[in-house]
Amino acid sequence: MLHSSYIEISKSALQANLDFIRRQVAPGVQVSSVIKGNAYGHGIEQFAPLAQDCGIGHFSVFSADEAQRLLQSLTAPATVLIMGYIGNAALEWAVAEGIEFYVFDLDRLAEAAQVSERLGKPAKIHLELETGMNRTGFAPADLNAVQKMLHKNRRHLVLQGLCTHFAGAESYQNHERVLTQLSRFQAQRQRLSQSGIIPKQLHTACSAAMMQYPDTHMDMVRIGIMQYGFWPSPETYSAFRSRHPESPDPLRRLINWKSSIMSLKHVPQGEYVGYGTSFQAPRDMVLAMVPVGYAWGYSRTLSNQGQVLLHGQKANVVGIVNMNGMMVDVTDIPAAQKGDEVVLLGKQGDHSISVASFAELSEQLNYELLTRLPLNIPRFIID
Ligand SMILES: *Cc1c(COP(=O)(O)O)cnc(C)c1O
Repeated sequence: MLHSSYIEISKSALQANLDFIRRQVAPGVQVSSVIKGNAYGHGIEQFAPLAQDCGIGHFSVFSADEAQRLLQSLTAPATVLIMGYIGNAALEWAVAEGIEFYVFDLDRLAEAAQVSERLGKPAKIHLELETGMNRTGFAPADLNAVQKMLHKNRRHLVLQGLCTHFAGAESYQNHERVLTQLSRFQAQRQRLSQSGIIPKQLHTACSAAMMQYPDTHMDMVRIGIMQYGFWPSPETYSAFRSRHPESPDPLRRLINWKSSIMSLKHVPQGEYVGYGTSFQAPRDMVLAMVPVGYAWGYSRTLSNQGQVLLHGQKANVVGIVNMNGMMVDVTDIPAAQKGDEVVLLGKQGDHSISVASFAELSEQLNYELLTRLPLNIPRFIID
């Protein structure tokens, strides 16, 4: 193994999660697999073909470079939707490749029409509506201009979708705001349809909205975090539990992140360990060097706090997490040897290190921690 750690991705876990997700929506509702952020750290190249094997035919990415990586990894034709960034230079490429994309301002709309006229190929656009997130999207005041443009460019623009995004459906605190967004969306949709503008698909829901607000499902749901086996928030999980008190957690994590012991060291009582004086050995100790540090996404805030699994037992990180390594206390795991497997995230024996606990200790969101797992850690598919 050239690399000091690797990530395993479980196919059976993905299949179980996708089966669960499909049961949350009516049979005709399409599930778009959201794979921005390097498939939430799972690796676009590894994750996309796996998702296709599990029946996914629609992917959503943030940017054109992700769409390009996706196209290179697909094993069969699939719909690709860019929800965010495309430079004008890449727009032509996107239209030529048949990639669908969000349009959220008049410049982009005009550009899309021009490009498609130039190429003689329709641009498949999704109009994003501003409903209250106040990030991107057409405000009601823009709609007249949008209508004119769409009518004028009927032959070039295909209105594949009408969409919006909720500002925090994972928290009950935002309940009123989400409902307001939904009713604004419906009002604007109606206004467009009265002038003869009928999109093929309506879509608004992310994972949390799918779970908490069935009215948001419409024709397609855009699912990120749940397909990877994580609840969008503790609140969405407890809401599910209260509706299904008998059910165990239906989601399974896909990721195991593993390394191994690089070397062992005996440290006499009273010695400091690593940089500075944050850890002083309280007794004679045996420490294992694990070759993963903050350069690999193992946060420095886990210094003296993190835990890993070794021989099926939990072991504490001692001292400061370095750029490329950390020390782990194996004094009470006498069988520990150079080369032994170390689990940083995921399961070993009866124990597991969850992303949630890891994220909490390192003061990150699930989403943040996952997407910070570097591109160059190798990813392998397991059953
Ligand atoms: C990230 C994203 C999603 C998916 O969100 P999850 O909470 O991961 O399901 C859906 N829609 C848009 C526009 C997004 O940016």
